[in-house]
Amino acid sequence: MSIPMHQLPEQQPTVWQPASVEEALRLKRQWGEDAVIVAGGTWLRTSWENGLTPMPQHLISLGRILALSGLTVGAEGQVHIGPALNIADLMRNGLVKQRCALLVQACAEIAAPSIRNLASVGGNVMTRTGDLIPALLAMDAQVRRTNGTTEQTTLLSEWLTPTNAQGQHDELMTGILVPAKTSAAASERQEKASRKHEFYLKVGRREAFTPSVVTVAGRLTLEPDGTIAHIAIAVGGGSAVPSRLTRAEAGVVGKPLSKSTLKALHQDVMADFQAVADDYAGVSYRKQTAANLIISECYKAWRKGGGGHASQP
Ligand SMILES: Cc1cc2nc3c(=O)[nH]c(=O)nc-3n(C[C@H](O)[C@H](O)[C@H](O)COP(=O)(O)OP(=O)(O)OC[C@H]3O[C@@H](n4cnc5c(N)ncnc54)[C@H](O)[C@@H]3O)c2cc1C
Repeated sequence: MSIPMHQLPEQQPTVWQPASVEEALRLKRQWGEDAVIVAGGTWLRTSWENGLTPMPQHLISLGRILALSGLTVGAEGQVHIGPALNIADLMRNGLVKQRCALLVQACAEIAAPSIRNLASVGGNVMTRTGDLIPALLAMDAQVRRTNGTTEQTTLLSEWLTPTNAQGQHDELMTGILVPAKTSAAASERQEKASRKHEFYLKVGRREAFTPSVVTVAGRLTLEPDGTIAHIAIAVGGGSAVPSRLTRAEAGVVGKPLSKSTLKALHQDVMADFQAVADDYAGVSYRKQTAANLIISECYKAWRKGGGGHASQP
């Protein structure tokens, strides 16, 4: 339910525009609970308008901190994404298209172009339910953040666990790091010998411009004989915090992509996906949908290379 305009605070918040991470954190410490960090403001605004959180007295904008909206490649080929970079710029970037195709697919599923022009990558991750998260999890991304005293880099999958949720309100995210793929020559050799398949699928209540009911992302490498050499699967959707399904992954690595392997994988996804029900979809529907999508993508990977010697799934 939206708040009628007359209920919005008469006094509009003060907007601070710090030029550095240090200044932003100093302002946050100064105003405490009365201040909030704002990147694109698209998620925050919805939350205020729906009466979920009150509009604070102070907004600390990241817009002028240039270091937070860059995109660079590290010495080891790692892609470093500034959290304040907006989703439209991220998906248009040639380097990202080349190295992080899965992330570009995820960006295209978020909101509409007008929102993507404002919505930031970091804001999406900080909400802990954003649609970029499953893709970043499948890519083994890390998040870098600082409290002004120490800067820490953590695997996104760890950062999302409930034990790590505490204290995140006092931190500023300063980077999202996507590990390098293997070098071009090595990856070409590997491609010839094995089959790689990546997928990102978002199921909503309509085709586009819709919140996610279930989102799955994954990366799969098959040996020439159809054995699963590597698999990374992430699931999310609705108000569930997305997660990697590491137990399900471990259960199938090294096994032929056969009917019995896929059946076991389906059961593990159903068991391990911590889906959350809402007025539109229950837990069992979400679990079943996630498992069906993942199995169907594994089958596509198998067919892509014309099948394997392993028993046909
Ligand atoms: C019409 C509409 C449709 C939408 N559709 C989708 C969709 O399909 N999929 C989806 O995932 N989302 C969707 N959203 C939600 C939102 O647009 C995205 O999640 C967006 O990426 C959030 O980014 P932002 O920059 O606007 O975040 P903001 O609103 O600025 O901030 C979000 C949260 O992150 C914190 N924050 C931001 N940056 C940092 C930082 N660097 N360090 C610490 N804290 C930070 C803020 O304090 C706040 O708590 C939609 C929103 C709207 C209004």
